[in-house]
Amino acid sequence: MDLYSEKVNLLVEELGRLPGIGQKSAQRLAYHIINMPLDQVKSLSNSIISAKENVKYCKECYTLTDREICPICSSKNRDHKTIMVVETPRDLAAYERTGKYNGIYHVLHGAISPKLGIGHDDIKLKELIIRLRDDVDELIVATNSGMEGEVTAMYISKLVKPTGIKVTRIASGIPVGGDLECIDEVTLLRALEGRIDL
Ligand code: ZN
Repeated sequence: MDLYSEKVNLLVEELGRLPGIGQKSAQRLAYHIINMPLDQVKSLSNSIISAKENVKYCKECYTLTDREICPICSSKNRDHKTIMVVETPRDLAAYERTGKYNGIYHVLHGAISPKLGIGHDDIKLKELIIRLRDDVDELIVATNSGMEGEVTAMYISKLVKPTGIKVTRIASGIPVGGDLECIDEVTLLRALEGRIDL
């Protein structure tokens, strides 16, 4: 016999599919949700659906946005000749939090990983190459410093070198395997300022 109601079990199961949510956390969240006022639960579920339905990739940099072109790409105050390549929109957010980077971005949505079977066609690399037809002075490769990030950086460097566009890599000093998102702003800025030619 099930200890809990079938509906609760279903909710626990769904929540447990989210990244970083184990069985215990899923149960805790499920009970929390059940004890919340109904209007709050409705507002939570509506915002999930609305985000899913309305958020899309920016047509230029591929970050998540609810517009055709994200606010960064549409800003006239940004330097459109400097493109920073990051793995995820969270990495973009980390650099934005420093408030010191004035270029634009390109979000790959992952990194090349032979181990996980992620090849160059599975991330937004073709899209990056197309963007390089525009007037670009520098491409800053800010993929993570783990194995996948390094492989991706080397691949981009090889791909872009023939175009004559300057390719740089953020300085190491970011812990190996370090998630850009978890690194403080000072370290990020230091990595950006100390970037080296690839
Ligand atoms: Zn954009």
